[in-house]
Amino acid sequence: MIPRRRIPLEWGDLADALRAPWVSTDAAALQVAAFERAFAEAVGVPHAIATASGRDALGLILDGLGLVAGDELVIPAYTLGELVPLIRGRGIVPVPADVDPSSFNMTAGSVAARIGPRTRAVFVVHLLGAPCDIRGICALADAHGIAVVEDCAHAFGASVDGRPAGSFGRAALFSLEATKAVAAFGGGVMATTDEGLAAATRVRLAGRERREWPPVRKMLLKFAEELAVRSPAYAIAARLMFSSHRAGGFDRLYRRAHDRVRGTAAAFSGFQARLGLRKLERAAAARRRRLDAQWELLARSLPPRFVAQRRGDFGEPAFYNFVARFLGDIGALRAAAQRHGLDLGIGAEVMDDTAAMLGFADCPGAATAAAQAVLIPLYEGLSDRRLRQTIAILRRLAEELE
Ligand SMILES: *Cc1c(COP(=O)(O)O)cnc(C)c1O
Repeated sequence: MIPRRRIPLEWGDLADALRAPWVSTDAAALQVAAFERAFAEAVGVPHAIATASGRDALGLILDGLGLVAGDELVIPAYTLGELVPLIRGRGIVPVPADVDPSSFNMTAGSVAARIGPRTRAVFVVHLLGAPCDIRGICALADAHGIAVVEDCAHAFGASVDGRPAGSFGRAALFSLEATKAVAAFGGGVMATTDEGLAAATRVRLAGRERREWPPVRKMLLKFAEELAVRSPAYAIAARLMFSSHRAGGFDRLYRRAHDRVRGTAAAFSGFQARLGLRKLERAAAARRRRLDAQWELLARSLPPRFVAQRRGDFGEPAFYNFVARFLGDIGALRAAAQRHGLDLGIGAEVMDDTAAMLGFADCPGAATAAAQAVLIPLYEGLSDRRLRQTIAILRRLAEELE
């Protein structure tokens, strides 16, 4: 079975984990500061502040910008659904802007259609590492005197005209989850050019306790999960877990289990900072070139009725995942893929139609994206042999499903 995702594990991670519980609070604080400086430099902004998660960073940004109950926030109609309750929990009204299903990103036009008298900010995402029209959206927001917040959870390393994603809006959030480019087994970063916002966020974070053990425990769980995925028993388990009618339920359970270990009110730990510093180097452009080349090969080799995401319209993408649209029955596609030993992620396992979640029926781009999205396995450590095997299976599937 070729699994849909794998987490790159390094022995250095374990060595750091063993060291972590013995590090003093002061030493941990220094490590976090060093990580924050390196991250700020990579994104080209003066301030990077490590947080408990990407969504924690979003909450801090919304609070820091002074959004309050009744304010409207334009959000992507196709993105991570868990961000919606976080926004609504503050009484802020999310208003979805439709996406272009070929890139999965919202456009300046779709954002413009959602700006009204109560709009306080625009929350944009560079989905799956593809830069959105950030310049167009920032110009539009400027004209209306509202802030832009960039979701760079997938876009570490992406750039527009040589300028990193995350440096365009008033603030940006990054995720350091195990599946993201800079994986510190949880955590996030708030990046900003705004001195006042950075200072206010530091004040908000000052009371948080820095604990080394929870992220270490989470990493050990991930190691166990990863070993399970690499075992032969996984093929059987995956068939049970991801059979089309159970998949949604399993995905929800998985996400909930993750929420439980995430821990929203903790400070970023010294252990995570050490990992993060190492992963920053790993994520450097040179190391990702291989993934980009594999991405291009896979995109070129897709059989008919598969349409790869368009990534390069507005800048240089960063690799995150390979997602295509399948113009056919994706349930049947997944079942057939399973039989051939290929584990695809489909529908809501890729991203969510937040417009539908919020009861908006006027975002056809998001509905199309959610109905057709297929995640095809491509990740660090995938051999070229496995990639060719994946392509061969996809071609066979396309013929079978004619
Ligand atoms: C992962 C992710 C986030 C938030 O990251 P967490 O660290 O999991 O809170 C935000 N937006 C998108 C699109 C994501 O995929």
